[in-house]
Amino acid sequence: MALVQKYGRPDLFITVTCNPNWEELRNELLPGQTPQDRPDLVTRVFHAKFEQLKEDIINKGVLGKVDAHAFVVEFQKQGLPHVHMLIMLEENDKLNNADEYDPIVRAEIPYEDEEPQLYDAVCTHMIHGPCGTLNSRQSCMKNGSCNKGYPKPFANFTVQGNNAYPVYRRRASRLPVPLRRRGDLMVDNNWVVPYNPWLLLRGPDIVALELQSNPEFDEIRQFVDASYCQWCMDKHRRKVSKPLSTSRS
Ligand SMILES: [Zn+2]
Repeated sequence: MALVQKYGRPDLFITVTCNPNWEELRNELLPGQTPQDRPDLVTRVFHAKFEQLKEDIINKGVLGKVDAHAFVVEFQKQGLPHVHMLIMLEENDKLNNADEYDPIVRAEIPYEDEEPQLYDAVCTHMIHGPCGTLNSRQSCMKNGSCNKGYPKPFANFTVQGNNAYPVYRRRASRLPVPLRRRGDLMVDNNWVVPYNPWLLLRGPDIVALELQSNPEFDEIRQFVDASYCQWCMDKHRRKVSKPLSTSRS
């Protein structure tokens, strides 16, 4: 909150998660072990990858020159770490309107013949659920609907939304593709978790990125308050009740 007072609202909200299938992890497991059995290894590999990513984002400024940043490392119930990161960009590099958002954040499935690697990464890592009528037992389902708002509505253009996030372009013209982890399900642009193409191809296998744009919205506080990463589990419904001093998990 002190950073926000000094530097203004954050521009980017980045989530980096650990992929239990990373080669660096798999290669070091003993026979019969799973990544969950080796928190020592998981933590070290994740830390090394996150350091690389910080170098790119904060020092090299691949998304724009960075004025200030904050992040928290959290652990899911199964023990896999992930990071939520807020970035405040320098004045000249701030994203000011929906047209400037599209090159930084995409929420569509690329076409395989145009961007084969990105197509692969998005289909493997950046498809939410699916939940709802396709799978009502997905963990995001609360009282009959997805707590992250999927499937998202189609949109021909990115527009400013009512809360802190824009409504990203998700064109209906894209034909559905088979879901990697369940080949019998077809998914379209409604199910894509917003991502930055460069970061997604860069290293950590799952990098979700969204834009913050409403100074009134108190998700930053929810983010800072998130002990045991409640943010991930119930980010839009949770009432903030804890004082800021409980921010660390
Ligand atoms: Zn869902």
